[in-house]
Amino acid sequence: MRKLSEAAGLAVLQRGKAAFQTHVKLNFEPAARDCRMCPTPGVCCTDAHFVNVHITRLEAVAIRETLRRTPRLTRDERRAVYARARAAVERYGLRAGGGDDTYARTYSCPLFEPGVGCLVHARSKPAPCIQHACYDNWEDVPPLDFQRQTERRVEQLNAQVYGAAWAWLPTPLWLTLVDPDAGGAELSRLARVWAARRTPGAHPGPDSRAQRQRRSLPVLRI
Ligand code: SF4
Ligand code: SF4
Repeated sequence: MRKLSEAAGLAVLQRGKAAFQTHVKLNFEPAARDCRMCPTPGVCCTDAHFVNVHITRLEAVAIRETLRRTPRLTRDERRAVYARARAAVERYGLRAGGGDDTYARTYSCPLFEPGVGCLVHARSKPAPCIQHACYDNWEDVPPLDFQRQTERRVEQLNAQVYGAAWAWLPTPLWLTLVDPDAGGAELSRLARVWAARRTPGAHPGPDSRAQRQRRSLPVLRI
C-alpha cells in the first residue's frame, strides 16, 4: 500500500468528503426537511440517546485543523469545544479499547454550537453526519452504500498515513486525543497499542451491527 504523509492524507480526505457531501446535497437533500424550520434545531447532534458517530484518527486531525483555522472561533470558544469533549467522555463513559463496544454508547456531540450549528459542517464533517437528515418518506433516505464507500476510503487513507495505528472511536474521545493542549501522551500510548495489532482497524468498524442500527438512523416525524 502506498504510504501518504498526514498532509497529503488530509487533502485526499477533504476531497472525498466534499464529493460525498455534494452528492447527498444534490440528490437527496431536496426531499429532506429544512433544518432552518426545525422546531428543535440540533437535537440530532445533541440527543445523548441517539448520537454514536465514530471517526478515525485522520478525521480527528482534520476536525482539529478546521477548529484551528475557523476565524470566527476565539481561543476561549475553541477551548470550550475540547472542554465539552472531555466532559462528554466522562459523562457518557467513552473509552478506547478494553473490550467495550464503543458503538453501544451514545453522547451529545461537542461540535454542535447553539446558534451556529455544526462547527465542522463545511470542511470535516463525519460521513454519517453528511448522510443524515430528516425525511418524511423512507424511500427518500440516501442508501447506506454511499456512506460505506466513503468510510472504506477513509479507512484506507488512515492505513496509508498511520499504518495500523488508528481506530474508529466516538468523536468526543478522538477530540480529547488530538487536543493541541493535551500533550499527546495518551494518543502515543494508544497508537503503540493499535500498531501492535495483527489486523489494522481491528476495533469494530463502520459495518458493525450496532453502528448499522444506530449511527445513521434518520429521524422521521410523520
Ligand atoms: S436534521 Fe432534523 S432534527 Fe436535525 S436540525 Fe435538521 S430537521 Fe432538525
Ligand atoms: S459532527 Fe457536526 S453534524 Fe455530526 S453530530 Fe457533531 S455537530 Fe452534529
